[in-house]
Amino acid sequence: MPDLGTLLTEISKEMSALTERGKVADYIPELSNVDPAGFAMVVATNDGAVHSVGQIQQLFSIQSVSKVFTLTLALGIHGNAIWKRVGREPSGSAFNSIVLLEHEKGIPRNPFINAGAIAITDMVTAGHEPRETIGEILRFIQFLSGDETIVIDHAVAKSETVTGHRNYALAHYMKSYGNLKGEVDKTLGVYFHQCAIAMNCTQLAMAGRFLAQGGQHPDTGHQVISAERARRVNAIMLTCGHYDGSGDFAFRVGLPAKSGVGGGILAIVPGVASIAVWSPGLNEYGNSLIGTLALERLADAMGWSVFNPQG
Ligand code: GLN
Repeated sequence: MPDLGTLLTEISKEMSALTERGKVADYIPELSNVDPAGFAMVVATNDGAVHSVGQIQQLFSIQSVSKVFTLTLALGIHGNAIWKRVGREPSGSAFNSIVLLEHEKGIPRNPFINAGAIAITDMVTAGHEPRETIGEILRFIQFLSGDETIVIDHAVAKSETVTGHRNYALAHYMKSYGNLKGEVDKTLGVYFHQCAIAMNCTQLAMAGRFLAQGGQHPDTGHQVISAERARRVNAIMLTCGHYDGSGDFAFRVGLPAKSGVGGGILAIVPGVASIAVWSPGLNEYGNSLIGTLALERLADAMGWSVFNPQG
């Protein structure tokens, strides 16, 4: 088994030599101003070690990676009842597809496409004021990573609100089918703020540890979710975490993972490690191009794949 620290340095060198780096998200100015040369990778192993390389202090917008944490919260609050309002099949469509939602009569295909994530946020928000839920999501992520300095980038949240026409369309569409209980503005207010949480790769890798450890928080011993539910969140990350690029990601990397348009990816090696990678250039599906390559290289060198023989 290669030494992780040495391997990460090698991977970082290889990645910095690549000239094709994808396209930085440009739908809001805060994301389009990020340098495509940026790269960081952190591996938090279950024995408590943390290995890292690159710009590990650099904060980025976690965007859709936040959907993993709200799904976990919703499962904790509502249990299996959430599956009446969202499916758990890969979509094969873009993350913000409207056609799919019409076809499925307002029940989003899975919790990670935008419509599904908005429905999940609506479930987490039920009975609360948006600002309470935003605080709860933030505190949950701070608790998972053991870092109270994590904050929301309010400029990003504001820009998301101003430009989020398609998310409004998805939310209204679900509302028309009765699959959104709260007011559209309030639910989306929470959704835009969860997407605007700013984290660095260390914080993100730390926040994912419970998914590599059977749902248990390694610092406190607290069972964040049951082992069975942690396994299922991982299953959805594997099948749906990269939208219409999920099949290719499973083929190449073979690990449960969730991407965001800020260029971050959280990947889980169950029983072994939580990995965060960031590089802001995106591929055609809106997933980090270099981040995916780096994960492919790491998983391959370490023999980390859920499809490897066990034991
Ligand atoms: N805030 C983005 C949106 O709702 C998140 C999308 C993503 O990261 N894929 O469009």
